Amino acid sequence: MNIRLSNGKLLPVEMHKIKIVQQTRLPSADERLRAMEEAGYNTFLLRTRDVFLDMLTDSGTNAMSDNQLGAMMVADDAYAGSESFYKLQDAVNEVFGLPYLLPAHQGRAAEHLLAKVLVKPGDVVPMNYHFTTTKAHFTLAGGTVLEIFTDEALNTDSKEFFKGNIDTDKFLDVIKTYGSERISFVRMEATTNLLGGQPFSMANYKKVKEIAAANNIKLVLDASLISEQAYFIKQREDGYKDRSIAEIIWELADIADIVYLSGRKSCAVRGGFIATKRKDIFDTILPWLPVYEGFATYGGMSTKEIEAMAVGIREMTQYSVASSSADMIQYFAEQLKTRGIPVVTPPGGLACHIDARRFLPDIPPSKYIAASLTSAVYLISGARGMERGTMSEQRDPDGNEVFSDLELLRLAVPRRTYTLAQIDYVVDRVAWLANHRDLIKGLIFYEEPPILRFFFGKMRAIDNWGAKLVEAFKNDFGPEL
Ligand SMILES: *Cc1c(COP(=O)(O)O)cnc(C)c1O
Repeated sequence: MNIRLSNGKLLPVEMHKIKIVQQTRLPSADERLRAMEEAGYNTFLLRTRDVFLDMLTDSGTNAMSDNQLGAMMVADDAYAGSESFYKLQDAVNEVFGLPYLLPAHQGRAAEHLLAKVLVKPGDVVPMNYHFTTTKAHFTLAGGTVLEIFTDEALNTDSKEFFKGNIDTDKFLDVIKTYGSERISFVRMEATTNLLGGQPFSMANYKKVKEIAAANNIKLVLDASLISEQAYFIKQREDGYKDRSIAEIIWELADIADIVYLSGRKSCAVRGGFIATKRKDIFDTILPWLPVYEGFATYGGMSTKEIEAMAVGIREMTQYSVASSSADMIQYFAEQLKTRGIPVVTPPGGLACHIDARRFLPDIPPSKYIAASLTSAVYLISGARGMERGTMSEQRDPDGNEVFSDLELLRLAVPRRTYTLAQIDYVVDRVAWLANHRDLIKGLIFYEEPPILRFFFGKMRAIDNWGAKLVEAFKNDFGPEL
């Protein structure tokens, strides 16, 4: 939580005590080079034993609370009718006001079920921005994802608070062009992940709902990061300063026809669900739940995780929890910015994002700008980030590259997991890298999977730049660090 210091600066002070720790290790520069070469310059393929600070994602890596861990110990293991499920149902109803709950093993499983039931071949699915698994599922069902963001969304150096907004004129155009029948639903993602965790405003969300309702189109809220979304509305939107996180979350859920989420983010567990007030929607999805996920009272989740989710969903309504990662990201971004590093502004939820195009202006997109920066940061710090750029896109049916709108290095800040000293360390190393950016030369694939290639693809460093970068690093810091 940001606390104002006597010099006026804000410090993201941790509002928790550390009770259990996992030891981590800083591998030497030579060890990092070896690990990166073996991983094909793909940070997904690193083993955690070779990673000092795991900033790949906030997914399933958040610190759980003592109450969450405690709840796991009293899980009721049953194939059908587990008490743990009813606790989760009560929590979802209490926090979201949504009585009908369909548990799923992850967020993407919820997307799969929605695609199965609501996306027909030839449909279009308008949304503020896609998420990788969302697009994959809706496309596999025969739909086309239409991103109808505002012009400001792609400006990485912006002062616009709500880059996750939908351009409502574009939404009206989509309705005019395709007709409501061909629109599966309109999807709003809370703090658009791939735009740098950028929120939408409540005003925009309400406008989208108004248009959707007038045209008989369902509004689907991807609520994976709803706690951060609510926090940004409270911080940034007129009229919400005095509203609690719980009230804002309730309002967000109340407006949607369908809410789904990945519990791995705001809820700090591993699981997911679809929730709705509409029994008709619940009834159409329910028969498919046991086919793909599991019986209606566990949906592929372990009962332990279901218990922890029931606690996590209530905890994420606390101000100090909702702000825990967002405030640290703001600090992270500001520290980098003062050192001249091009970060995405305003800072968003989930991660600090570096604009790789501005960091590495001489590398063409065909040589994977963001992926190059991601592997370089690992080599010089042991911090593992994630590429969110062209490597995360897919080739078109003719095999041509689809260049990403943005080339970002995402340095995720899992909730309550890392300390400020660790953030300061990464800031220092990235600043060092900026002074040696000329050494980075881009990457080429030598193994390229046909779908979601960023997970398993392997690349080579052009002109062996990885080894040269590590040499320069050792000249400055010695062989141990
Ligand atoms: C993580 C995420 C998903 C997918 O959820 P998983 O639990 O990883 O399957 C979907 N949407 C958003 C916005 C996410 O952040």
